[in-house]
Amino acid sequence: MELRFYNSMTRNLEAFKPIEEGTVRMYHCGPTVYQRPHIGNYRAFLFADLLRRLFDQRGLQVTQVMNLTDVGHLVDDADDGEDKLEVQARKEKIDPWQLVQEVSKQFFADLEALQVRPAHHYPRATEHIPEMIQIVNQLLERGHAYQVGANVYFDVHSFERYGQLSGNRIEDLEAGARLEVNDEKRHPSDFALWKSDPQHIMKWESEFGPDGFPGWHVECSAMAMKYLGESFDIHTGGEDNIFPHHECEIAQSEGATGAPFVNLWMHTRFLRVDGGKMSKSLGNVYSLDDLIEKGFEVLDFRFLVLKAHYRGSLNFTWEALRSAAEARKGLMDFRGRLTAACSQEEGGEGGIETVLKARTEFQAAISEDLNTSAALAAVFDLRNYFLKEGLSSEASKRALDFLLEVDDLLGLFPNTAESSSGLTDAEIDALVVARTQARTEKDWARADEIRDQLSQAKIVLEDGPDGVHWHRG
Ligand code: AMP
Ligand code: ZN
Repeated sequence: MELRFYNSMTRNLEAFKPIEEGTVRMYHCGPTVYQRPHIGNYRAFLFADLLRRLFDQRGLQVTQVMNLTDVGHLVDDADDGEDKLEVQARKEKIDPWQLVQEVSKQFFADLEALQVRPAHHYPRATEHIPEMIQIVNQLLERGHAYQVGANVYFDVHSFERYGQLSGNRIEDLEAGARLEVNDEKRHPSDFALWKSDPQHIMKWESEFGPDGFPGWHVECSAMAMKYLGESFDIHTGGEDNIFPHHECEIAQSEGATGAPFVNLWMHTRFLRVDGGKMSKSLGNVYSLDDLIEKGFEVLDFRFLVLKAHYRGSLNFTWEALRSAAEARKGLMDFRGRLTAACSQEEGGEGGIETVLKARTEFQAAISEDLNTSAALAAVFDLRNYFLKEGLSSEASKRALDFLLEVDDLLGLFPNTAESSSGLTDAEIDALVVARTQARTEKDWARADEIRDQLSQAKIVLEDGPDGVHWHRG
């Protein structure tokens, strides 16, 4: 099925055509590692993972890069002022390098818990300083940048397409520019490529002077082009990255190389919390641990995010997370019931058409700009049909295959690697369903037999008001 994606640059849905047939090269703006990423950040990163899984599933050879910003991202995304990392390190009374280590470790643990497939490269800004300096020099040579003392700025008037991605016009930006204009800049909209500040802890010596560090935007240009080449297929980020970050990346990269930088720009809409922006003062900047503390599983959050289209609004509330957790349990229950139904006596074709229809609807929704919301609706329709009408064993087999294909893309079931018990999660789900059924039918011998089988495999059962749950002991 042909893939179509919304391109923030053209503001249109476009058929996806990789630069090199059969391959995809993509870059995602990753976390600024000054504090553990919050659930909003993970909406953006889960979208990156969805793209990755889609291309894997469609058999494309993917090169995926997500950077770690560990220097140069100043407070308020500004051009002047303090580095977010150094401010936080000072608060915690630790060395900024140590802070980077701690937060990065946490970030990778979160990704693993969320079942995000590892990207092929996770470059860190501080490990690519020479590549950034090289771009700054190319821009100076090509007349897109100018040096004032030990600082270097990009001249936005030198790049005609500046503003194309965000729709901003330089004149309008300058009319609305803040009063305290940095008088080193030729124009208020020019932005820093390289800054010098003796107060900075993380700093490098270069031909521009001592005590320098890169601007946040040039970091992503350098890391993206190093791993993906001057021109690549897809660049993503949250919607706040469109301006100035991505606008500036385009100007720098294309200004330096003269080649088109990115074919397709994709942006995730912001996750809101309790109907508004997350904020420290409201105490709702949640991390994954906050969800676990309230008894949720990290994958429930994954479900909540994927249930919404990535460009649609998504409001995080505890109630919404509770519904997501319920719905995800419903999917696991479906898998268990289907596994059991595969080996039932019921022959014939009953329901095959319905399964095929669900699969087609699912793939069509995904192919049309990754509409996971509509795609999941097709899965739940099939589940409802199964619960009402039942499916023959052949149709159940097909439905189970389909469900596993859904999971390969969405990653909602815990990883199904067989444990030492020798039972897969799906087999355990099926046994739990069979035991419940035996109990309903008052077949106590069968129910006990299954319980013994599960306990031998060190599976712990918990009877709760909403059904039986299990975990590996
Ligand atoms: P940062 O750590 O601030 O550099 O952000 C890392 C990524 O998370 C960027 O792509 C941001 O656009 C994205 N992001 C930040 N906040 C949110 C949010 N509330 N919802 C979705 N994405 C976000
Ligand atoms: Zn970036």
